[in-house]
Order: sequence, then C-alpha cells, then structure tokens
Amino acid sequence: MEEIKKVRVRYAPSPTGYLHIGGARSALFNYLYAKKYHGDFVFRIEDTDIERNIEGAEYSQLHDLIWLGIIPDESIEKPNPKYAPYRQMEKLALYQKYAHELVEKGYAYECYCTEEELAEMKENQYANGIKAFKYNRHCLNLTNEEKEKYIKEGRKPVIRLKMEKGVTFKFHDLVRGDVSFLSDDIGDFVILKSNGIPTYNFAVVIDDHIMDITHVLRGEEHLSNTPKQLQIYKYFGWEPPKFGHMTIIVNENGKKLSKRDNNILQFMSQYRDLGYLPEAIFNFLFLLGYTSSDSKEFFTKEEAIENFDPSRLSSSPSMFDNKKLKYINSTYIKHLDDEKYFEFILPFIKKSAKAKDFDENLLKEIALIYKNEIAYGEEITSLLDEILDYDKNQLTDEEKEFLNLDSSKLAISKFKEKVISLKSFDKDSVKELFLSVQKETSLKGKNLYMPIRLKLTKMSHGIEMHNILKILGMEEILKRIDL
Ligand code: GLU
Repeated sequence: MEEIKKVRVRYAPSPTGYLHIGGARSALFNYLYAKKYHGDFVFRIEDTDIERNIEGAEYSQLHDLIWLGIIPDESIEKPNPKYAPYRQMEKLALYQKYAHELVEKGYAYECYCTEEELAEMKENQYANGIKAFKYNRHCLNLTNEEKEKYIKEGRKPVIRLKMEKGVTFKFHDLVRGDVSFLSDDIGDFVILKSNGIPTYNFAVVIDDHIMDITHVLRGEEHLSNTPKQLQIYKYFGWEPPKFGHMTIIVNENGKKLSKRDNNILQFMSQYRDLGYLPEAIFNFLFLLGYTSSDSKEFFTKEEAIENFDPSRLSSSPSMFDNKKLKYINSTYIKHLDDEKYFEFILPFIKKSAKAKDFDENLLKEIALIYKNEIAYGEEITSLLDEILDYDKNQLTDEEKEFLNLDSSKLAISKFKEKVISLKSFDKDSVKELFLSVQKETSLKGKNLYMPIRLKLTKMSHGIEMHNILKILGMEEILKRIDL
C-alpha cells in the first residue's frame, strides 16, 4: 500500500524583488492546496543568485504575504528545526556534499572550461545551425593529469550534471496534464558554480527533497526546468513531488504581464498603500487562474479553501482585469462594518491636506458619505482634494457662460440669502432650503441646482448637494458664493 504523506507545499521566492502579483498568486494556490488537504505551507528563500538579491525583498516577500492572510506554517521567521535553515545561502555545505556525491557516482563531472571557451563553443554551434546551445562535453572524461594542468593554470571547476541519453521524462502536470521532455534536448548543465554556490535547478531539488515537499505549484516559466530537476531526482533515487505549472497572467491586450507594464501595478505593497483590502486581493487572486464550480465571484478565505480543487486551475492564460479588481475591492469596502471602515479610511481622509484638521465627527461623516462611492482608499483623498482645493479646479467656457445667465445669478443670490440661516446640513433641511429657493425664483431642475453646484465646487457632477454643504461648512460656502 502506498504510504500517505502529509501534504507539504512551498513558496520559494528569490529575494530579487518585492512580492508581486505572479508571486502572490503562486503562494496563494500553494497555501490553498496545503489548507485544503490539512498540510503545511512552507516559505523558504532561494537566494543563491547573490548579485541580483535586493535589500528589503525578503521582508516584503514574507510580510506582504502575511498581510494578504497567506500565512506560512514554517518560514525564515518560524523555522521547524527538522527542516531549518530556510535560506539556501545558509546551507552551501549541504549542496556541495550532494554535488560531490553525484560526481563520485559518475552522474556529474567537473568542467574547467572558461567563459571565453564556452562563448566560442556557442558561436560555433550557432554557425552550424544549432540555436539552443548544449555543452559539448569537452570535460566529461578528463584525466587526472589534464585536471591538474587546468588547476595549475588557475582554473576553478564547476560541476555539471551528465544528462542521460535517449530518455523521455514524463510527468503528469496538475494543470496541463501529461507532459514529456526528451533528455537529448537538454545539455549538461551546471549544478555547482566554481564559487561553491549551487544553481537554482540543483538547490531546489535538494530543498524540496529534504523538506519533504509533496506538491509544487509554480509559474509556467519553470516548466522547462522540470526535466532537469527530474534527472537529478532520478540520479539520487528520490521520489519527485507532483508538479503543476500555472499559466501566465496577461494584461487586457493579451500580452504577458511584464514588470514594465505601467498600466498595472505590480507589487502588493502598492495595492496596500493605495487602500486595497487584503481580503479583496486574496479573493481577486483566487479568481486569477481558477474557475470555480459555479459562477460565484466572492469568496472568503475559508470558502476559497473549501472550494479549491487543483484540477480547476485554468490551463489558459488568466487576464488581469483592473476593473474587476476595483469592483471586488469596492464591494469589500461597502461590506466593512463602520468601525473597521473608519479605521481603514481615516488615514486616507487625513491625507487630503485640507481635511486633515477636521474634527473627528466630521471626518466620520465624510467617511460615510464616500463609503459606497470609492473603489480603493486613496480615491477618497483625491475626491476630497477636488472639493476642498477649490483653486485647482477650472470651469469650462460653457460652464462660465451658464453661470453668467440671469437665471443662474438669481439662483445663487437666493441660495445665499437662505443658506445663512440654515441650521443643519442634513438631507431634509437642505431639501427644504432648495424648495424655498425654487418657490421664490420659479427655477427648477438643472437651472436651480447646477449654478450652485458649479459655484461651490467648479465641478458639474459629484456627491449630493447636502453632502457638499456639510463638507464645506458655512464659512467656506459663503466665501465661495461671493467669489
Ligand atoms: N525561486 C524560484 C522563483 O522565484 C522558485 C521556483 C520554484 O518554485 O521552483 O521563481
């Protein structure tokens, strides 16, 4: 009987950048897999590409995930002693030991070729019509004398894996079904660099094996790495995990999402700073690459775990739909209870230069005015700036003409006369005020309201009149009317 192993999955970022959409999505599906099958979700760091590592990336990768509610069971900050360390650069000796074991068994060999020699080899192959470079095995059978000669010249060897000939690597991909690769298409690749640091393809196998990883869900860009990794598993006699390669994310024009695409924000921290809610992003990422069994759009974390089924991971590219993200986020904002909403929104209101000194009650009233209007937190800052920073707004020529009509002037002067004695800016009192202006001027509809809206905000549309009055306050209303 086959032993049933505890599900263990991982998210293994390289700290070469902050947590971005693609990474967060990979982490999310691994997390769901773990939680659905009562397993562990492991966060570890693949930091062997030392020149590309950047300051703060590791922190962002972990803490932006935690912010999203994708909480690792084990990580660099929560290590399980059985599996630690969780950073590759902290266990170089281990990879070196395994690499040498393969050399001893004849599955790998030292290669002394220099960069220049390799470049020349590549050029020759290209000239002969071979586009995908494959190492020519120059160093496969070096004698000890030859090796010593190279060492005397000051050369330091790398270790290359000796790919088998005539083998087909087959596996059942959780997303795309049966996949196969021919070993003959793959050259002998480097597993340990001359500085003793392993390459990704080697270190990832050692880690996945010693950390008892059972399933690997990762981006499609790693599909062609899988046969290389399978060869290593085969040489060690280890059972590989089950693989699933998720499809790419594309923009609205069907182009692969690129870090340089300015229309789409790439990093989770940008969404957080703009006032997206972690639950909404979690929900959005869940739909990005997954087709739920009904057409349901809203999922709590618990529902996503419950609903998750790896066979429903989509096998065609997923489109990043900005409008949908806004729609989902605005819906989550609408559903926040008022206390949570205030906590979330007040910092954004206070970012509006002129609103920041309002008293707490007015701030809360303003917050509620916009609760159903905004897609994300920072929108309230700009909407308030629009109303409060009057000098910035410009009337169009048409609007100026309209304000110059006798009827507009009449509406404004009557409004001024009446508003002075207004006791409250609640909806009914303001309605009453306009009814009396209407009665005394015989103006109605656009001719009654628009002059006042334009005069007070220099904008022809926006929130309801009583809310404009409430936000401005009497002093500011009278000032603007007289301008
Ligand atoms: N460090 C790799 C990356 O960031 C992880 C690849 C894998 O999941 O095997 O793409």
